[in-house]
Amino acid sequence: MEELLQFLYLMPIGVVKFRLSGEVELMNPMASALLMPLAPTGSLRDIYTTLAPLAPDLKRRVQQFPEQAGIIIDQRQLQLQPPSGKPRTLSLTVNRVSDDVFMAVLKDITKLREQQRKLFADQQRFRAIFDNIRDYAIYTITLNGVIEEWNQSLQRYAGWMAADVEGQSMRTLFPPDDPELPRLDRFLSQAERTGSVEIEGPQRKRDGSRLWADTVITALPDESGSVRGFVVVSRDITERKRIEDDLKLLATSDPLTGADNRRQGQIRLAAEFARHDLEGHTFAVLMLDIDHFKSINDRLGHAAGDAVLRALVQTCKSTLRVVDAVVRWGGEEFLIVLPGTDAATAVVVAERLRAEIAAVRVSIPGGASAGLTVSIGVAEAAGEDTNELLRRADVALYAAKSGGRNRVVRAA
Ligand code: GH3
Ligand code: MG
Ligand code: MG
Repeated sequence: MEELLQFLYLMPIGVVKFRLSGEVELMNPMASALLMPLAPTGSLRDIYTTLAPLAPDLKRRVQQFPEQAGIIIDQRQLQLQPPSGKPRTLSLTVNRVSDDVFMAVLKDITKLREQQRKLFADQQRFRAIFDNIRDYAIYTITLNGVIEEWNQSLQRYAGWMAADVEGQSMRTLFPPDDPELPRLDRFLSQAERTGSVEIEGPQRKRDGSRLWADTVITALPDESGSVRGFVVVSRDITERKRIEDDLKLLATSDPLTGADNRRQGQIRLAAEFARHDLEGHTFAVLMLDIDHFKSINDRLGHAAGDAVLRALVQTCKSTLRVVDAVVRWGGEEFLIVLPGTDAATAVVVAERLRAEIAAVRVSIPGGASAGLTVSIGVAEAAGEDTNELLRRADVALYAAKSGGRNRVVRAA
């Protein structure tokens, strides 16, 4: 009993024992400290009177309580405005212990309420960020990449609704044919190890269209420091990517025909030579020149000449492999780079190309049409430098011209 009283005395919670009449029989020091501001006269003898300003219904609730024992009021929040000092929030629980024995438990939850309010304000702030940012999606995922909670940013960013993504793998947000997709698990474990990873690539919108995104995946450690999930921030950089691609195309291609420009051709040649020298990789070049192109210009006009140049490049691209380079080397002179191709094969390719081109009819602005033929010199790289390889191809081209045009000649 002694110990129990001691315990009650030291408890950081106010405990009041009272009777049905409201008469206080016992209260611990914490209870009197909490209730004192409510009793200007200093008397805390009647609990109904003391708490009347905060809980006017207390007396009625207690006296009309039908059960023999039980909870009458459960953790009701009371706002206490002391004559001096800051407002406080109390939590009040009232219990009937037995017929004429009641217990009121009072807790000062001011700090807790403040923390809750701050937490709520923070949440509101984050929600405002999530819901109002444009061109970004921010969401959290589990360690396994499952999307935890939908927010407005996902809808604004790519049209996804809560039902589409909540509980789904973040893979839902990537195109199924994205080459990075199989590596997603590795990105997550890398983010877990190093704190974050950044990936750039396509993402899938709800309507099936694509955007280009920069995505940062950041590990979310808990209090103990172990990672329990990730926050993902994706930024829509479609526009930037488009400008970059346009600039790249502008810097590397010929605007009239879409063929690689001469500078890009030199880069391709240098790369092939490096593999040739280091790894013994074979490759061949074709030097191609339109026959009597000047007369096409003279007879049909410059615009017709341009159309012929475009048609020539189209035919080259559709006849050759994607790994082959078609380079506008000069006005109507084209260099074609064929990786992994020896001279004999290159001659076959050149012959096929020559025949395809000779079969083309180019429609000319104004309704007419024109045909064209080309002469081609073929040379395989043989340990020499670029200039020497191109010179040999040129000599072969010249031989094709003087041999009657519309033909292929292999370099000596
Ligand atoms: P050959 O069979 O000996 O090659 O005769 P050719 O007439 O094709 O040779 P030539 O080098 O005399 O003529 C090339 C012409 O290509 C001259 C030039 O006006 C024309 N040309 C160069 N660039 C362009 C272009 O971008 N558009 C058009 N329409 N013509 C161009
Ligand atoms: Mg020509
Ligand atoms: Mg020429």
